[in-house]
Amino acid sequence: MNLSLTESPSADAIQAAREHIAYIGKLLFERFLFDAAGGNISVRVGNRIVISPRYSGSMRHWQLKPEDVLVTDLDRNILDGSGQLSREVNVHFKLQTEFSEHGTAVIHAHSRNILVFASQSRPLPPVLEATRKFGVTPVIEFAPAHSPRLAERVAASLRGREVRIMGHAAGVIAPYHGLFLMGKDLDAAFDAVERLDNNAYCIMMGGMLVGGLGVMENQHKMEDIISNYKEAQS
Ligand SMILES: [Zn+2]
Repeated sequence: MNLSLTESPSADAIQAAREHIAYIGKLLFERFLFDAAGGNISVRVGNRIVISPRYSGSMRHWQLKPEDVLVTDLDRNILDGSGQLSREVNVHFKLQTEFSEHGTAVIHAHSRNILVFASQSRPLPPVLEATRKFGVTPVIEFAPAHSPRLAERVAASLRGREVRIMGHAAGVIAPYHGLFLMGKDLDAAFDAVERLDNNAYCIMMGGMLVGGLGVMENQHKMEDIISNYKEAQS
């Protein structure tokens, strides 16, 4: 259930979000969807933001206990938990407040295969049935890590894709950095990061299989095959 920004959540709902972030963070790290240097998670529960603490990867190796996960109000005051706010706090609070009607979970990820696209400043087109729902994941204009301008540019890129957030998730690639993604909830956001990372892997390995540009020809082929199949059924 998506509580509004003005509703106070129950203690049980906060506890559940802290447990969920600790669990999903460990999964993301173990699956190379986070690296030691980067990755953070937030979930909004009513008028509270539940967010992974700074250095969750580099110093805590995503072995977080639920009580390590921070609970804040919408003004970024820490109400519970140990440690400091994530350095990407600007993006998390920007998306959690601007798109609060559409989703409740934000993940920033240094996913191994998506990092290749980020390093080359390349958008990520869908090449699998499982990723068509996300459309092309675009590259935003550069802004330094942790900066308020980065938060502005991530939010600007997501505007117009609210329906994708509500339906599942939508992401952006920050050049030379990584992925920022908002999902309707944390399970959906986790699922979307993994789908997009696998999609990136398929483009790169597909390039080895059929030769660089052949991969993009096959993307068009996939769309033709899927749309023709639908026509044949109607
Ligand atoms: Zn980062």
